[in-house]
Amino acid sequence: MTSTHPDPTFQTLLNNHPNLSYEGRQGLVMDGTSLTDIAREHGTPCWVISADTLRQRAHALQDAFRARNLPIHCHFAVKAQDHQACLTVLAHCGFGADVVSGGELRRALAAGIRARDIVFSGIGKTDDELELAIHHQIGQINVESVEELHRINALAQNMQQRARIAFRVNPDIDAQTHSKITTGRAEDKFGIAHDAIPALYRKAQTDMPGVELVGLAVHLGSQMVTAAPFRKGYERIAALVRTLREDGLHVSDIDCGGGLGIAYRNEQAPPPAMLADVIAETLGDLDVQLHVEPGRWLAAPAGVLLARVIDVKDAARRFVIIDAGMNDLVRPAMYDSWHGILPLNEPDTTTEECVDVVGPICESSDIFARQRSLPPLKKGDLVALLDAGAYGTVMSSTYNSRPLAAQVMIEGDRKAIIRRRQTLEELLVQEAVPDWLARP
Ligand SMILES: *Cc1c(COP(=O)(O)O)cnc(C)c1O
Repeated sequence: MTSTHPDPTFQTLLNNHPNLSYEGRQGLVMDGTSLTDIAREHGTPCWVISADTLRQRAHALQDAFRARNLPIHCHFAVKAQDHQACLTVLAHCGFGADVVSGGELRRALAAGIRARDIVFSGIGKTDDELELAIHHQIGQINVESVEELHRINALAQNMQQRARIAFRVNPDIDAQTHSKITTGRAEDKFGIAHDAIPALYRKAQTDMPGVELVGLAVHLGSQMVTAAPFRKGYERIAALVRTLREDGLHVSDIDCGGGLGIAYRNEQAPPPAMLADVIAETLGDLDVQLHVEPGRWLAAPAGVLLARVIDVKDAARRFVIIDAGMNDLVRPAMYDSWHGILPLNEPDTTTEECVDVVGPICESSDIFARQRSLPPLKKGDLVALLDAGAYGTVMSSTYNSRPLAAQVMIEGDRKAIIRRRQTLEELLVQEAVPDWLARP
């Protein structure tokens, strides 16, 4: 994510992605399925998500906590990848959901995730969204402010219910990641200042009949690849729990948030065992029900975005123009993020050239890779943008009147279209021209 990392070699990129390999005439294969076949059948741009990878990673995460005997509930952060099919795979693995809107809450329920396994986070929950959550008696609402606490208490009392809540703590810690995805500093908009927690906790637990306050939640940021910020954040939570208990208050649940990063480029991304170790060391002896909310770590490596080279333009630089754009995958334009790019045909890597890989959108930021060493590409060649399974489809738009791309799920030797490519007619039919505007 930062320019301090040199680019991985072609071979390192492949080694970092054990679900991808070149298989002779099939070209690049993901978990046994030829990506070229998918691009030919469904056209480009096209998202592919592997249920096998998703499931393997879900189990690897659960195993890391199980190995340390930690009582943990895993809630998938739906905002990273909200497709019903993906949520269904994770629900089968025993995952609950972390949602940040009423829409995501409905999606999680529609995918068969039980209400009690759903955690609702988010800085701006409307009254309607809170009522929906209270009505379904979801597992926990993570409260972001004093004001929200009062709203939840009043809404729940009106509904003659009690809402299970936790306080989202702002621990004032820098997650040491991109500033657009850090959330746990005092100046960030998230959570309740940690020094304000004890007094508010007492008030909520003794004086607010509409809420059942079960504990604390923290989420520090995203794409975190070192243990230090996690440790600092959780130590702070542990100290708070001890203070609250000394005051005779009741704490039964701690939600550790998400944020575990992956190796997009050359990051030394730690395995989930690192997170489990840190949680065991800092929170393991508190006798609480623990929760985690991973998104990116689970879903990113399970997905790729397939694109075709429209043209190669030789100017001051060589530009490889592909038919996927920032409207499909916005992360490079929004966060300067780095995604591996692999040709679908096994390339001859002895003749790499330095190119910019760009999309067709009329914006200078529509760039997937700057000065990247790649095997020579020509018009019509197919490429895969890697680690696109999280924060990809969910952020797509139809900018430049580009309909949403198709999505395909693969599992074993099966593949299914899980979202049809949108058509331009579908875009136009949503628009109405006021009848006072006479058609020319
Ligand atoms: C975004 C988010 C997550 C997931 O973050 P990842 O980096 O994708 O693991 C978890 N919890 C909350 C509250 C979030 O906002």
